Amino acid sequence: MFSARLKPHGGIRPYSHKSLTRDIAIRPLAMPRQLIIPLRQHTGPAAVPLVALGDSVTAGQQIAGARERMSAPVHSALAGVVTRIVEGEQGSITVNVSVDQPAAPRLTAADGLDETQAMLSLIEQAGIVGMGGAMFPAADKIRMSLRHPIETLIVNGGECEPYLTTDDRLMREQAEFIIGGIRYLQAITHAKQVYIGIEDNKTEAIARLDELCRQEEHIEVVILPSLYPIGSAKQMIEAVTGRQIPQNRRSTEMGVLVQNVGTCIAIFHAVRFGKPVTHRVITVSGRAIEQPANLLVPIGTPIKDIIGQCGGLKSQPARMVLGGPMMGRAVESLDTPITKGTSGLLLLNGDELPQTRPSACLRCGRCLDACPMSLAPQAIFAELKNDGFAKARQQGLNACLLCGSCAYVCPAALPLTQFFDWGQQQLRLIKRQEDKLARTRLNSAKRQERLAREAAEKAAAQAAKPARRARRAAPPSEETPC
Ligand code: SF4
Ligand code: SF4
Repeated sequence: MFSARLKPHGGIRPYSHKSLTRDIAIRPLAMPRQLIIPLRQHTGPAAVPLVALGDSVTAGQQIAGARERMSAPVHSALAGVVTRIVEGEQGSITVNVSVDQPAAPRLTAADGLDETQAMLSLIEQAGIVGMGGAMFPAADKIRMSLRHPIETLIVNGGECEPYLTTDDRLMREQAEFIIGGIRYLQAITHAKQVYIGIEDNKTEAIARLDELCRQEEHIEVVILPSLYPIGSAKQMIEAVTGRQIPQNRRSTEMGVLVQNVGTCIAIFHAVRFGKPVTHRVITVSGRAIEQPANLLVPIGTPIKDIIGQCGGLKSQPARMVLGGPMMGRAVESLDTPITKGTSGLLLLNGDELPQTRPSACLRCGRCLDACPMSLAPQAIFAELKNDGFAKARQQGLNACLLCGSCAYVCPAALPLTQFFDWGQQQLRLIKRQEDKLARTRLNSAKRQERLAREAAEKAAAQAAKPARRARRAAPPSEETPC
């Protein structure tokens, strides 16, 4: 066990609110009556339904298939009957849950695969995505990492978002499964060294994992400063290894693979027991909920069921958030379901929300100091306000993590993160349009080239015709034999 090699640049120390749930053990949610299971719970395109209306499904059955790379299969957490299917990116499959819950079938790898491919196949079939919230399909991430020799595996226990204690509880209660998942990842990647990065405010988790690591070769706990956003991959790598990943490089290109503690547990269950991802642990917190909790929840459970099983609301929340308060998503509907990437459900009172009346930029520079990516948030914001997308891109808008640190410290309460989110969407749109234009230009140039070639060939053929005719019409020469 050792302390961080480097304090990453920037970062903030928001009030953690973790005391609301950090000492509450994980308990399973009672079975909900209905699951609304989204088809898109990963970074790529939505999965394709494999069931029809009225079908009976078993617990753990695959109900939608991965469309292509960066997509992942989707399973039903509970047995029941399919009552609604909405296809597409915002689509979902609704399952009315049955009272009887027969044992779920196990996933198996196809015959003839070597050990590494068999493990990857199980991880893929299980539909595992980054459980820390990134929702990057784990099998794709590992396969991409295998293009480069992986020296270091970092297991991310840096749960730096305020309120959330999901990973803390997992590290305290399921440390053996984390080590089990690490061993499988070591076997697949041949990583020489494994570090488990944990913030110094999680003393029990540090003690528990350090105790287990003493029996392991090449697995060590690294104590990190409690700093937001230390849980983001680049900051984690910087703190653990002392190495900085350049803005345009992937960590795997530098020989480092990062996986969240929850993802390691899911990998352990998939490879060891053939279990798909059907449930996840979430923190339910905020001052508007009666009984804050850490719950094991079937994926697809609507948030109204969770609120109901946490004693209901103390007061009408000013905001409901899926995830943490810094990077989470505000939701309106009580039917919104929990997904594979949902680490928390926050029911927040008005006094837990930041001030929202923006004024002009004071040029105080606090956002510069807070930015973990060493960007100049106020300058990017100024460009975006004037639709200066190209300049905002030059200033590093695409490298922005949308972590919200700049907005958190901004005394002018400027909506910096919302602008950067919107700006990145615009850059993606512009890039798509540029790519389309480039493809159109290329096709047009190829067409012009083909037409010119055909015209030249035709002209050459025309030019050859009179010569042939002339040869045919010419009188036989004297030397022509009779
Ligand atoms: S939201 Fe972007 S610009 Fe703001 S601090 Fe985070 S990384 Fe920097
Ligand atoms: S923190 Fe806010 S007020 Fe200060 S320079 Fe940045 S954008 Fe301007």
